[in-house]
Amino acid sequence: MGEQVRITVNGDTNFINEDDLARSDQKKVKKARRKRTQSRRRPKNPQPQEWLAQDLSLRKIADYKPFNFVDGEGVRCSLYVSGCLFACPGCYNKAAQSFNYGKPYTKELEDQIIADIGQSYCQGLTLLGGEPFLNTQVCLSLIDRLRDAYGYTKDIWSWSGYTWEELQKESADKLEMLKKIDILVDGRFEEEQKDLTLQFRGSANQRIIDVQKSLKDGRVVLWDGLVS
Ligand code: SF4
Repeated sequence: MGEQVRITVNGDTNFINEDDLARSDQKKVKKARRKRTQSRRRPKNPQPQEWLAQDLSLRKIADYKPFNFVDGEGVRCSLYVSGCLFACPGCYNKAAQSFNYGKPYTKELEDQIIADIGQSYCQGLTLLGGEPFLNTQVCLSLIDRLRDAYGYTKDIWSWSGYTWEELQKESADKLEMLKKIDILVDGRFEEEQKDLTLQFRGSANQRIIDVQKSLKDGRVVLWDGLVS
């Protein structure tokens, strides 16, 4: 048993066992280390073309939400694909980071989505996840059918952990998908830049990009509906 140590705080004197004091110091050190590690936790940064849908996607989806008002402008049908490797701390849909989460994407579901988007009050399709650009087989199939059925009368939004600049250096399937959509909300969710007042995005580093204008101008052009 350790010796008693005398401690006086605000005029109150207490005697504490030396061993207890050491244990409490160790706890404090561990807590401080844990805090430091947490603040260092960042999303992953892949090399160009390091992650490929052809190697990763299991063609599974986490959810399908028809006729919602939150995943972009107007009334939208949203497909949440499964699988994402960015591992952002604070991810809003952690379960969908697994490529094996949810259920298989089927032709029946695709038929249903195409029919739903055909409703006159539905503005378009939203692709999110998970990571749509690591599920290009699913997304391109749906995008191509949507364009065949409705041309450009319906718009397509997609969220991605990839930034615009990263996507420019990516695989052919990702570039094909980028060229076929209208709006990209880009970049990882950065916990340190979290801001719940932002329109359609969770952290200040993310941008709402007008894809077609950006491709035409050869630079990032933000969506003209941006309010905050
Ligand atoms: S990119 Fe999106 S889905 Fe992927 S881990 Fe980050 S927040 Fe989650």
